[in-house]
Amino acid sequence: MAAFRVFAAGMKHESHSFCALPADLDRFKAGGGYKRWGEIPAAFRGTNTEWGAIFDLAGKHGWIVIHPLDANTAPAGPVPEETYEHFAHVILSALRSAMPVQGVFLTLHGAMVTTHLPDAEGELVRRVRGVVGPSVPVAVTLDLHANAGPALAEFADIVSCYRTTPHVDMHETASRAGELLQAAMLGTVKPVVAYAQRPMMNALDQGRTISGHGPMVDILKRADAERASDNALLDIGINAGFDWSDKINVGPSIFVTANGDRAKAQAAAERLMDFAWETRDIKTIRLLPMDEAMAIARAPAEGPGPLLIGDYTDCPGGAGVGDGTNLLAAMIANDLQGAALGSIADGAAAQACIAAGVGATVTLDLGGKFDPANGGGPIRVTGVVKAVSDGRVVRKGPFATGSVTNYGPSALLQVGGIAVVVATHRVQIDDREQFRIFGLQPETMNILACKAMNHFRADYEKMGRRLIYVESGGITSFDWSKYPYRNIRRPIWPLDDLK
Ligand SMILES: [Zn+2]
Repeated sequence: MAAFRVFAAGMKHESHSFCALPADLDRFKAGGGYKRWGEIPAAFRGTNTEWGAIFDLAGKHGWIVIHPLDANTAPAGPVPEETYEHFAHVILSALRSAMPVQGVFLTLHGAMVTTHLPDAEGELVRRVRGVVGPSVPVAVTLDLHANAGPALAEFADIVSCYRTTPHVDMHETASRAGELLQAAMLGTVKPVVAYAQRPMMNALDQGRTISGHGPMVDILKRADAERASDNALLDIGINAGFDWSDKINVGPSIFVTANGDRAKAQAAAERLMDFAWETRDIKTIRLLPMDEAMAIARAPAEGPGPLLIGDYTDCPGGAGVGDGTNLLAAMIANDLQGAALGSIADGAAAQACIAAGVGATVTLDLGGKFDPANGGGPIRVTGVVKAVSDGRVVRKGPFATGSVTNYGPSALLQVGGIAVVVATHRVQIDDREQFRIFGLQPETMNILACKAMNHFRADYEKMGRRLIYVESGGITSFDWSKYPYRNIRRPIWPLDDLK
């Protein structure tokens, strides 16, 4: 049998419609998130990512993989029309040239907002289907923070979603989708996809699974029970959604991939969605007011390991602009000792530190430039440059193990008792190496303040004495009524009074 030719492409973005920083092509390129052809295996082979799985599957099944593009950048504002259309053109023109192919594998996020389309991912898959025709199986993977619409169910044959937050199962998710794709290419299954949603933009505890309890954990158990009870159900994808996308299909969604039986798939999707609706207001975390967080930080340590402070509302991993200063200002005002903060994105400040050199004392206006009205404007600090770096970090923790995250030119600036990572790029903290490259051992710190929401918990929580989250005034607030949504479906919970 001739080897299967599998066309694979990645196009990922989690878009916050009210973030001031557009997700344009320059932003994808600057962060190293625009990779073509041979750059893709060089970056991802052997990593705990979807691409790592695709190359493993290729080795296992003898696929010839055609891989023209992987586009991915830290969450930010909407993707401009010309950027999306560039990605679509690269993918579709390479696909036309590659035909015939026996399968298509698209690794998407699902929460992309563009300036011109209601459903960016659904439209891409619709166009791909238009090229390959009805009989070539198309597999899609999604981040469970997808705001996905029904077009994916209509035009894809397999939809698999992450099952963990922090997302430590990227490879596993793509392996699942890829084995189904292989079976579909062989003709041993005939997958169909059902889709369900409810009038809610927030539920399932934003997909958190790390604490081992809560509605996301429970619904995944129910999904496993559904699958165990009927072997026609091949895969069940549960998406919690990303609340800050002004997109018609914002909010939780469920995809059930079944062997031939769409009615069974739909019934399972609806049963699970009922559970998501009933549990929609249960959350496992709380954002503390700054005063309350600082009182905890000032108190004597109640155990070993650092106090972990997640700066939830200014996390670049959730489209926070990543240069907000409210938390740092509070830490300075409270004279915290043995503390570190990662990171403030401020390229000019990073360059000033690098130019001054290790050991120099610098005074500069740090951060707060991208969106001073949210999360705090620039603050004047004086500190000693402790280390400088090119900012390239190879992750060693459980999240996206082996892949690279990149601060760009960066420095560690000691301001009183606080070591501040000053970076060029907006980067969320998700791996201990992000402090170690500057010579800091995170385990030994008293306090670690991180621009972080969920993913850092995979590597950090086990060493911390306690984890708290702070409301610092950034743009990913839990008060959704303050955002001017225009494109979401209404009525919708919790903005509208739905019982
Ligand atoms: Zn996610």
